[in-house]
Amino acid sequence: MRTMQLIALGSLVSLTSMSLAGPGGGCSLCAGEPSVQAAAGLDQAMIDTLVAMREEEKLARDVYLTLGEKWDEPAFGIAESEKRHLEAMKGLLDRFGIEDPIKDDTRGVFTSERYAKLYAQLIERGSVSRVEALRVGALIEELDLTDLRQAVAQAEDESIERVLGNLQRATRNHLRAFAAALKAQGAAYESQYLTQDEFDSIAGSPRERGGMGGGQGSRQGSGRSMGG
Ligand code: MN
Ligand code: MN
Repeated sequence: MRTMQLIALGSLVSLTSMSLAGPGGGCSLCAGEPSVQAAAGLDQAMIDTLVAMREEEKLARDVYLTLGEKWDEPAFGIAESEKRHLEAMKGLLDRFGIEDPIKDDTRGVFTSERYAKLYAQLIERGSVSRVEALRVGALIEELDLTDLRQAVAQAEDESIERVLGNLQRATRNHLRAFAAALKAQGAAYESQYLTQDEFDSIAGSPRERGGMGGGQGSRQGSGRSMGG
């Protein structure tokens, strides 16, 4: 499953960079043409990953906002944290002069087909019941954690590693929050992107501090155990 997901990300990434090719946007097809990105020292794979992660944060925010309207479930307050993650990814794109894949911030609208499809599937699934909605939350956090790990592994720039590291920590906290909410409902969860052992181990370990905007509890008023 994980392999499939990585392959999917790979194909998405090439689609995304093609669709992003534009004036001054570091066109990956314009061989030999210097780009802002090249000047910034990032390779195309890293650029594509950052572009994908920006949309993945939008996926999390959009799904949680929509499911939060549907179900009276406090865990979907995590959408507030995902808004900050979206901004963090935008900050990285801006820093390296990478074109933002988000042209239309409307909920459920994505540049990449992969995220558009995932949004539709996850909303459909999460509309079935509150427990299914919570499972969708856990699934998104698993996916996010898997992709963030891959991204950190390829990162050479310190600022990218730092931001992605903070996002990973927040993502583990989100995973813990959804796992705890499922447990409170007496519902089981089968991991899809992480191994079950890994999922259970993260879910069962204490919430981590620090990372994205450490004082989120006091800032949001509804801090709970969301993190980042
Ligand atoms: Mn996130
Ligand atoms: Mn998250």
